[in-house]
Formats: sequence, C-alpha cells, structure tokens
Amino acid sequence: MGEFQIQQSFFDQYLGKLRHVAEIIDLAPEVVEILSKPKRTIIVSIPVRMDNGKTRVFTAYRVQFNDARGPMKGGFRYHPDVNLDEVKALAALMMLKTAVVNIPYGGSKGGVKCNPKEMSRRELEVLTREYAKALAPFIGPDIDIPAPDVNTDAQVMAWFLDEYNKVVGKVVPGVVTGKPLGIGGSRGRGEATGRGVFFIGLEAASKLNVSLKDARVSIQGFGNVAFNAAKFFYELGSKIVAVSDSKGGIYNPDGLNIYKVMEVKRKEGSVTKYSEAEIISREDPLTVDCDILIPAALEWQITEKNAGNVKAKMIIEGANGPTTPEADKILSEKGVFIVPDILANAGGVVVSYFEWVQNRMGYYWSEKEVDDKLKTIMVNAFNDVYEVSNKYNVDMRTGAYITSINRIVGAMKSLGWI
Ligand code: GLU
Repeated sequence: MGEFQIQQSFFDQYLGKLRHVAEIIDLAPEVVEILSKPKRTIIVSIPVRMDNGKTRVFTAYRVQFNDARGPMKGGFRYHPDVNLDEVKALAALMMLKTAVVNIPYGGSKGGVKCNPKEMSRRELEVLTREYAKALAPFIGPDIDIPAPDVNTDAQVMAWFLDEYNKVVGKVVPGVVTGKPLGIGGSRGRGEATGRGVFFIGLEAASKLNVSLKDARVSIQGFGNVAFNAAKFFYELGSKIVAVSDSKGGIYNPDGLNIYKVMEVKRKEGSVTKYSEAEIISREDPLTVDCDILIPAALEWQITEKNAGNVKAKMIIEGANGPTTPEADKILSEKGVFIVPDILANAGGVVVSYFEWVQNRMGYYWSEKEVDDKLKTIMVNAFNDVYEVSNKYNVDMRTGAYITSINRIVGAMKSLGWI
C-alpha cells in the first residue's frame, strides 16, 4: 500500500497551508471556504496560424482569485507545464503577496501552455494578441491587471496593451504593468523583483547577524529575478558561487563574475558555456556549499529528496512555490531561516503597483523615487512578518500567511462578505 501515494497538487499545498493557518488564528469555516475558491476562472482555446502555415490551438488560463482588497493583480507565464492547478495556486499566492506587502490589490494569475523557446517572434506576438483579446472583457485597471512572469517580458506586455487598446478603443496604459518605459512603464520595474530579494536579504542578514559582504550565495536560475538578485549581491561584495538555467548549472567556490556569465548566456544560449566554472546540474545550486540560497527558477525545486542536502543557513525564495511542504518541514527542523516567496519576491508586484499609480496620475517618478519607495515597503513588510512570526512562535512562511490573511479577512468583513 505504501507504494501508492497520492501526490498533492500545488493548489492542494496552498489549501493545506490555509487550513494550518486557519487553526492558528481561528478562522471561521466560511472564511476558509471563500479563500479556497477562485472568484473567477477563465479558460480559452487560442488558435494561432504558425509560421509553417498550420494552425495550432493553445490552452490559456486566467484565474482571478480574490478582489476584497482591490483590483486583482498578477503576471502571466508562457511555459509547456502550465495547467489550471498551477495557475490557481499562483493566483492564490498573488492574493497573499499583495496583502503581505500591503498594496491595494487582490490576486490573480495567468498562463498559456506553450513552449516559447520553440516559437518565432511572430508566433509569440499573435498568441499574445489573441490572449489579450480573449481576456479583454474580464480585465482592466479597476478589475484585473496582468504583468510579466516566467518567459514573458516588457515586449509581450506591449503587444498585450496594444491589442487591449484596440478592443476598447482607447489608450489604457494601466491595464497591464511591466511595460517598456516609452509606453507607460515605470523606471526600476525590470530589476524590481531582484532588487526586492536583495532588500529582504539585507534585512534578514541584519536580524540574524550575518554579513552579506562575506556571504557565499547560490542561485538557482538566471532569468530576470535570478540575474538581478545576483547583480545586487555581487555589487555588495557577496560571492555568487552557483547559477543555472534550463540547460544546466555552473559552480565556482571562488565566485562567478556574473556580468561575464550573462554575456556568455546572451551569446551562446546557456550559462553552461562559461569556462571559469565547473558544470553542474540544474538542481545542484540548491545543494552546493553556500550561506544563502536563492531558488529563483520554478516551483517545486526543494523537495523531500534534496532538502536534507541543503547547506545554506538562509533561503530567500525568488521563485513562487520553490519549496514543497515536506521540504519546508525538513529545513525548519535543520534550523534554516526561510523568507517565503510571497514576501521575498514581492518587489516585482510592488513596482507594478507604482507603475499603475503613475499611469493613473500620468506623472512619472525618477528611478531613485521608485527604489526608495520599494525599499520602504519591503523593509516594513519583512518587519511585519518577523513580528507576527515571533508573536505566534511560527516560521516566516506561516507568519507571512497570518499577516496577509488577517488583512484580507479585515477587508472582507468591511465589505460585508462575512
Ligand atoms: N509575476 C510577478 C509575481 O509573481 C509579478 C506580478 C505583477 O507584477 O503583477 O509576483
């Protein structure tokens, strides 16, 4: 019998954590029920005429989880593994993330099941425009505001915006964030998630009396979040000992020059082409010798299989959902300090919020204004969660869930939902 185990889904894991927190803060069953079900789920099939003349049909999702605290907010991703369960879980995490940093939004997420690495620029543009058209009746600056996520960037947001504008017959920059600067993007948005991860690292290090300058940092990933986080730690003087991409990883105990690594990746397509390092697997950055680990790739990377081998004393979750509940347990028993995704990687959505505010004002801030405001929000959120964790004597993930759920419940009470 033992062999037949039902694997918990990503959304089941969210539900498990919700029930755990419900017990600690004594949530009414009706509250748990509302927080267990998305407000609206949109699934569309998108036919795209591919470059070879044949039509392919892509399945696309948008899950709008909860809007008690404001319009819903969350990115959309292009990835072959996208599925409804994943998008639902990520939408719930966005609801918690916006609440934990206390910006006036609910949560949502989107995704298209596709392999963008095998698609041409034209195919991606057509797919994005069709996705925007399909979502247009259900989104808007006061309803739900998409943004970049895995494999989607400022260019994708620009196509998305252009198509939305055509559907509604006006220019609505605030319908999507993460846009290029010239069409209503915010300064500092591109590197915001990585910068936020770094601010959280600084704050956590000061609480734990660790010197970031002397720290060895291992990073899983080398996309937008991973590269920018690496850059800020590197500039401070930390040693970046490992990074990875979908093709593999690299390790150098003396530290990598991350700008050179980036140059190699741009030119040759993968970090593994970098010569001054040992080639390791995509998963190895999780378990190499280091002080701080930043998983900044995809969900479900640190599991019960490798958690025991993690050497880091601190984990800052740049990705969404990188640690499974089983791994979480193993790591907390080992005394590893984990700053959870919904707090650690919130810098992106915080600057998305600034972008939306600037779009609504039609007045744009300097990079310094953006960065200073981001720092204030990240530091305050870290301290809110740290305090709650100490008060309830729980880990930072549970503390972050308690902090955000209390805020969402407060809003739902004011609105008369409960
Ligand atoms: N996709 C990012 C996240 O997971 C940013 C979302 C946003 O800016 O709305 O937080």
